[in-house]
Amino acid sequence: MSSSLNSHLIKKVLDPEIKFKEATSEYVDFTLSNVDLSLANSLRRVMISEIPTLAIDSVEVEKNTTVLADEFLAHRLGLIPLESYDIDKLRYNRECTCDNYCNRCSVTLILNVIATEDSSKSVYSRDLTIVQNDHIKNLKLGNPAVSNDVPEGILICKLRKGQELTVKCIAKKGISKEHAKWDSAAAIEFEYDPWNKLNHTDYWYETDAKVEWPIGKNHRDEIEPNEDDKFDYQAEPTVFYIGVESAKSLPANQIVIRGIDMLRQKVDGIYQELENMDRGLDLEEDLNNNINNGLGMDIGYQDENLGEEGDAYGMPNFAEQDIGYNEASNNNDDYGEANFSDDDEGDAAW
Ligand SMILES: [Zn+2]
Repeated sequence: MSSSLNSHLIKKVLDPEIKFKEATSEYVDFTLSNVDLSLANSLRRVMISEIPTLAIDSVEVEKNTTVLADEFLAHRLGLIPLESYDIDKLRYNRECTCDNYCNRCSVTLILNVIATEDSSKSVYSRDLTIVQNDHIKNLKLGNPAVSNDVPEGILICKLRKGQELTVKCIAKKGISKEHAKWDSAAAIEFEYDPWNKLNHTDYWYETDAKVEWPIGKNHRDEIEPNEDDKFDYQAEPTVFYIGVESAKSLPANQIVIRGIDMLRQKVDGIYQELENMDRGLDLEEDLNNNINNGLGMDIGYQDENLGEEGDAYGMPNFAEQDIGYNEASNNNDDYGEANFSDDDEGDAAW
């Protein structure tokens, strides 16, 4: 590796830069520099798919005499953004110990509207009222998110005189990888190389691509290439223009902060798994030493079923066993026991 290339790589690792162009509660526009395309794209992917928010997940319809079917209304209610700033205080429903839902894994909202006047009555998301409990008291969690421009929120349905809608909505924590209703970002802009100097974009055109395609939004931030310039086949993108538009369940800056934090947690997770793997390998070595020394296995990872696959000592053949770097093995406080058990599917996390 040449020294110039080496120093280029070192700079990329050591000097990542973020410059903010615009930051409001609804939109954040920034430039991320001196990182790889893969890292910038990871941040985009995490922000759009893995930041937990709250959304209505089940609806119990008590009375619905509107023209809209229950399923149609349930779908509309699910897509209403709910305030999720303190979502970390809520458990995922699937991780909760309750049978169905409880205050620790859900927020309940009630919608109860009757049209009594001759004119039609519009039902908006602000008409949803949160059922308070001690767990969510004083938390920024569960209220329908509205903007200053449209304080009444999202139109859910319209009622004629005499029509009634009474529903109980159970909102749960989730991520948009599961369903788009949990998406914290309405849109994420991601652009690099606005002049397409790297030829990563292959334009389809009728007669002239330059006339038919607009130049990238951030083209003023980069120098326009000269037509006579030679193509630099070693060039790599190092500046990324990212815009995050909030869906209002979280402020836009929080989406970026939580995205970076989520990415860090993922890298930390890989680190921990590799550490666990090392511990598993050490354990295997210790065990082999013990077997060779005729010490037997009394250190607590024996499983009665494993003997069938074991060696002459009745010991399991660990070369054929998964050595436990899945999520379940993380929960073991003494290494070994569950790591070597039958139901350990060590490849789940890989
Ligand atoms: Zn629960």
